[in-house]
Amino acid sequence: MSKQLNPITKTVRASVDEDKTHGSVMPPLFLSSNFTFEGFNQKRKYDYTRSGNPTRDQLGDAISDLEGGFGSTITASGMASITVALHTLPSNALIIVPHDCYGGTQRLLEALKEKGTIRVDYINQTNKKAVIEAFKQGPQAILIETPSNPLLRITDVEFVAKEAKKVGALVIADNTFLSPVLQNPISLGADLIIHSTTKYLNGHSDVIGGAVVAATKELHEKVSWWANCLGATGAPFDAYLTLRGMRTLHTRIKQQELNTHEIVKALSAHSFVSKVYYPGLENHEGYEIATRQQKGYGAMVSFELKGDLENVKLFLQKINLFTLAESLGGVESLIAHPVTMTHAAMTPEALVGAGIRENLLRVSVGLESPEDLVTDITEALNFVFPQ
Ligand code: PLP
Repeated sequence: MSKQLNPITKTVRASVDEDKTHGSVMPPLFLSSNFTFEGFNQKRKYDYTRSGNPTRDQLGDAISDLEGGFGSTITASGMASITVALHTLPSNALIIVPHDCYGGTQRLLEALKEKGTIRVDYINQTNKKAVIEAFKQGPQAILIETPSNPLLRITDVEFVAKEAKKVGALVIADNTFLSPVLQNPISLGADLIIHSTTKYLNGHSDVIGGAVVAATKELHEKVSWWANCLGATGAPFDAYLTLRGMRTLHTRIKQQELNTHEIVKALSAHSFVSKVYYPGLENHEGYEIATRQQKGYGAMVSFELKGDLENVKLFLQKINLFTLAESLGGVESLIAHPVTMTHAAMTPEALVGAGIRENLLRVSVGLESPEDLVTDITEALNFVFPQ
């Protein structure tokens, strides 16, 4: 498709009207695990779905287009994407990681560290001095997650990437929380982008999937090689559903963000909410960087309730339109209690170090009517804290 088209157009029309066999408007789904050879020693573009599949490639092309990458490798989950990206590093590589990264990522890194496969240094990447110090160790890679989960801390990707380049470290950025609509880490200097496509890209909470977007041909080939070697590539049906969901990505995330602004206003005004974490708030420590490097502030918000765990329990019992569940980025609003859910794998010390308290709640704002969402959250707050 022409490079001049607006990304919205490109995503809506990804692989539309390309079927030469029957002229189907929407792309056909290729579930076949294998493809015929045209003749002796005459392999076609595809031979075996673990190594390559047309439906998976259609999704990969659409994601690369949005991220401005050379190519995307579609994997079975976000964790599979991180696993594949880590395999591109030399053994015993030192990786600089945010101290408040996604719990599953931390579990994987810790397990690999225990086995002696990699070395890991956790730092607060919002602290530029800590970043400069960490690079003095000569790491092979840095993993960035911005905004971070669940406190939505903002890392300056351009700054980190510049420092990384000085020591030849690979910059891997997890862009799950914003999607390519609101942030493009390759344009800020990242080498690889991770997506849990489970979240905004699919957007309907019915697929587990991942993608690794590479900035260069060389890196893309390396990542794809490892994905095939490890058997980490995604299923064609999942790719089909994800591309279907992605066609509405821009519209979804923009409306979800507008809904979030209403919720942030309601939370900030409530006297029993002690803290609201949202990068679009001027008092958020990452506000200026977020304004510069993002195209929006996103649809995730975290907040702390006054009082103890009993209040959290009561609030979660009362709230109705925010479903108590992990994950994020779907059309439906979700609420999570990080300490007992998404971040339960972290030790109490690691939780304290990352600033994740027991009265913290994380919300993924969906596409319901913003008035209904605000009413629901306000009623639950007023129930716990009668005025
Ligand atoms: N990265 C981030 C920032 C996440 O929030 C998650 C999951 O919540 C993952 C990666 C892992 O993705 P998946 O659950 O698709 O394996």
